[in-house]
Amino acid sequence: MLERPKRKNPVLRTRLPTLPPAARSRIALGLTAAAALGRFELQQCRDCGAVQYPPREACQQCLSIRLPWKPQSGEGELLAGTVLHHSNDLFFRERLPWRLGLVRLDAGPTVVAHLHADVTSAPARVRVTARLDRAGQAVLAALPDKETSDMADDRQLREFTCDPKFRKVLVTDGKTALGQALVKALAAAEAELIWVGYAEPWKKFAGFEELKKIPQVTLVPLDVTDSKNVRELAAEIGGKVDILLNNAEFHRAFGIASRHGVETARAEMDVNYFGLLRLAQEFGPALRSRGADGLASAVAWVNLLSIYALANFPPHGTYSASKAAAQSLAQCLRAEMRPAGVRVVNVFPGPVDDEWNQLLPPPKLAPAALAGAMLKALREGVEDVYPGDVAQEWLERWRDNPKALERELSA
Ligand SMILES: [Zn+2]
Repeated sequence: MLERPKRKNPVLRTRLPTLPPAARSRIALGLTAAAALGRFELQQCRDCGAVQYPPREACQQCLSIRLPWKPQSGEGELLAGTVLHHSNDLFFRERLPWRLGLVRLDAGPTVVAHLHADVTSAPARVRVTARLDRAGQAVLAALPDKETSDMADDRQLREFTCDPKFRKVLVTDGKTALGQALVKALAAAEAELIWVGYAEPWKKFAGFEELKKIPQVTLVPLDVTDSKNVRELAAEIGGKVDILLNNAEFHRAFGIASRHGVETARAEMDVNYFGLLRLAQEFGPALRSRGADGLASAVAWVNLLSIYALANFPPHGTYSASKAAAQSLAQCLRAEMRPAGVRVVNVFPGPVDDEWNQLLPPPKLAPAALAGAMLKALREGVEDVYPGDVAQEWLERWRDNPKALERELSA
């Protein structure tokens, strides 16, 4: 059971972030790329079918170089477990004792994996998963084969995830249905404190009273288009935020031909792109400095993007363009946050069931389902998430052939 972290002594120096050892071969990036999407994939030989680990340039059975990455169930048997009480690596030294195990996967290879506390001693059935560590590299973690209670509370597993439990979270826009669903989901997930931003504080909005009733919630005026407002809020709470969820967005229909002037497109850029930039400039440094603050450290920055960031959807053409710009900026933010061990999670939903997508036919993603997918991404510690069937389908097409998706969306 995870204990609520003690209040931080403000006199003590903040620990400098140390990261797990990060040198990996280029070929091993396949494992990391899959783990970033929450998948466990290993190389499987196209010629002889052997599954191999660690990743290599050629099949160790038949020397074939045709080694596509294939999803794995991770089922296997724990052969031996050990508890590390000493490490030459600074990251692990600060986190000892640390449990490791040797697991023979049913698919063939034997792997060394971080061992969840609920895995019984060997021999035991386990499920190996690939996770991103704080350095953003894939590692293998063995979990009990059956779900146990409070499984996410495991101290070691929490080093690989961004679980909101006992953490302080800022949701940048509490006015939308998605924002309110996020706040409720975070409260249910036992977030310690939830700051909820709302623009134009002189206007009451639907759901305001309901949000105020949630004990963890503090409503804070926040307009991401106002640099001064963002700076002042960061000065006030920036040093305490563990997870920043940026769901503020401006969304209007239409592309180029059916609209005059640049006003709407500018408003979209001001929220969707410059809003992210303002937040990143003001809150980024504080989060980076707290990436090593123990069990409730700063861990994640979540961006609400759109599947249209991958390929333009002309009926929502300028909105798509603003999301593409935001995605590019989010990649920059990710690169800058990674050395501090803070994960940037990009969320690419298909059309959401809100007023700006009224004219689109179903299926559309319900705001509560999107909020659920965003929380799941934090709990699993993934980097990129494509919630809903539409986004999943378009992602597959885009991976298969980006040109085909462009054509289909513009048809
Ligand atoms: Zn082979």
